[in-house]
Amino acid sequence: MLVAISGACTPKADKELTYREIAGQILLKDFEPISIFNIPVTNVEKAKYGVIDMHSHDYTNANPEQIAEWIKTMDACGIRHTHIMHCEWIGEPFEVMLKAYGAHPDRFSVWCSLDYTNIEAEDWEEKAKAHLDYCKSLGAFGIGEMVDKGLGDEYARPTKGTHIHLDHPKMQSVLEYAGKLGLPISIHMAEPIWMYEPIDNHNDGLMNGANWKVDTTVEGCYDYDEVMECFVNAAKAHPNTIFIGCHYLNMNQDYPRLGKILDECPNVYLDLAARVGESAATPRATSRFIEKYADRIFFGTDNGTSADMYRTVFRFLETDDEHIYEPSFGYHWAYSAFNLPDKVLRKIYYENAEKLYKKLNK
Ligand SMILES: [Zn+2]
Repeated sequence: MLVAISGACTPKADKELTYREIAGQILLKDFEPISIFNIPVTNVEKAKYGVIDMHSHDYTNANPEQIAEWIKTMDACGIRHTHIMHCEWIGEPFEVMLKAYGAHPDRFSVWCSLDYTNIEAEDWEEKAKAHLDYCKSLGAFGIGEMVDKGLGDEYARPTKGTHIHLDHPKMQSVLEYAGKLGLPISIHMAEPIWMYEPIDNHNDGLMNGANWKVDTTVEGCYDYDEVMECFVNAAKAHPNTIFIGCHYLNMNQDYPRLGKILDECPNVYLDLAARVGESAATPRATSRFIEKYADRIFFGTDNGTSADMYRTVFRFLETDDEHIYEPSFGYHWAYSAFNLPDKVLRKIYYENAEKLYKKLNK
């Protein structure tokens, strides 16, 4: 498009647009800037230390050939072991997953779900506990991924736990029993904060906020603070049960608040899965937080099986690259990496997971 320039800084000509007018026509959803800085771009082929990925899913639909391919990618990228969360909307039923991934016990662990069928029945608690006994006897590592974005545990199968939150009276003995069995609970609470903010011109994470907007006006839906309060109360009520808050507990916008939860609840851990986009907007605050709570944080991906995906995550954890655009993260801002010290990387990559194994006698 031709642009007429009249004078030094007030371009305007008949039937033509000023630069400001052209810029004003670009929509935020189409904004895909390319970094112009001549600064390091580091390709991390393989993680610095062998990684235990504490948050992945059955992306292969339990297909043995695809699992074999995945193992090759894990080898190429330095992933020693992958924990597969149970969630049948990404993958197969628990027993099918267990059989397929169980062929590689040194490379994969499989988690299970609660069974909410007939929760209104008087004997549900006993049945739910018996189901956990069954899953554990088959080799389940833990329970998860549970998900409560406000409407209750929505990942469970065969029956969703709609409106069943961690504070449901019938959940209490089951959560306690999970601790007794040595089954940690991996749980995704709420969503990143931008998904609860109004979708307007002040929403800092507008486009991704809109993609994943949580409509808390739905009857019976908990809002962000209610979901978090519910989590903290459960963690405090069941100190012998281990809770892993997925994705920084979806609270990386407020590290002081998140740190307070970790301080108050020694049975709460976090995973870093699928939140590079959110956490790399504030790289210095994020690295300070990860360093301070380095004993309580697990590595996780939750984002497919490609080598590029793993390498992107390693780049953010290991290097000091900055001003990185990554359209797949969904936000319009530029990201910078965390440059974590080796001591911290070792804890997150595998030492904390190994400590957890020991604690749970696994
Ligand atoms: Zn997940």
